[in-house]
Amino acid sequence: MQGRARLPGLTISSPRHRSLYSSPSLNKSRSRRIFSDTFRSHLNSPTTPLQHRLFRASASKMTTPPPTELLFHHNSTLTTHPTTLLTITPFALLPEPDQSLFKSSPPLEKQNAFVLTFPSTIFHPQGGGQPSDEGTITSSSSSSGVSFTVTSVRHSLTSPSQVLHLGTFPSPDAVFRPGDEVTQAIDVKKRLYYSRLHTAGHILGSAVRHLLESHIEGFDELKASHFPDSAACEFRGLIEGKWKGPIQDKVNEFLQAKMPVEIDWWDQQDFAREGLERLILPRDGEGENVIKPEGGRGKKWRVVRIVGAEVYPCGGTHVERTDLCGEEVKVRKIGRSKGCSRVSYGVVPGLEG
Ligand SMILES: [Zn+2]
Repeated sequence: MQGRARLPGLTISSPRHRSLYSSPSLNKSRSRRIFSDTFRSHLNSPTTPLQHRLFRASASKMTTPPPTELLFHHNSTLTTHPTTLLTITPFALLPEPDQSLFKSSPPLEKQNAFVLTFPSTIFHPQGGGQPSDEGTITSSSSSSGVSFTVTSVRHSLTSPSQVLHLGTFPSPDAVFRPGDEVTQAIDVKKRLYYSRLHTAGHILGSAVRHLLESHIEGFDELKASHFPDSAACEFRGLIEGKWKGPIQDKVNEFLQAKMPVEIDWWDQQDFAREGLERLILPRDGEGENVIKPEGGRGKKWRVVRIVGAEVYPCGGTHVERTDLCGEEVKVRKIGRSKGCSRVSYGVVPGLEG
């Protein structure tokens, strides 16, 4: 199956990339040569001698990069995490496909921009409609005092299951080295805001399904964006404007019910038992979009259950009860185009203090 799944953490990159790094027959020297070839075209980029030395140090250790453990999948309350730096790569030396992942990120001072990887991370990479976490990574050695500002996080396209942390050091002359003990710290206010927006998207989706599934022929939930300036859920079928009030009422009902939001891991039998196999089967003509299970946990899907409302396969972060989305989840507008409908929404910002 080519391409990437839609949700964060449930991603499996293309077989071509998987074979580069995970083939049992691939010996170390061949793997290193492939890695060098991959980067050769980037070695003419205007970088400093220090950046080249760091790149070579990282490259020599990355023959078979291990997957980054996504700690927020199992405990999304972690806001700091001690770990070890695995690799550090000047942004200019990143493979082109991985550089392109950061096109929409804020511009950074080129000389100071690096991408870091770790064995594990508490940073949520952008995906599944949820923005990436931001934050800082500091050296655990009190003598160094070096701090890295994380501005964007993505799943790598070229190194399967690796999470790339893009950001800057105050100076390119004082940076981390592979093996350094560091502490990750996410921007807690932004994480909570994104978690409220994301959970509100599920609540809106389930409210619309509960109301309209039996009224609209061919109804289905398609996709969602949980970005602050474009939060919306999309549905198959035409939802008339008259439904805006009833949808708002249903959303309010779910918020006031203070429904628990629970994370679980399901195999295919679990979906069948709950009558929810539609959630993991390909839609008509959209086979490439079928959501993949996470291989590291016995090929189970991570699911979020809004108890009493709906279940979704999801790799994102959530609040623990529906009312924790905030005082209001406002249904803003219903748009219709090409047989589909888009319902935009917002949450009250700034509750994080
Ligand atoms: Zn979710």
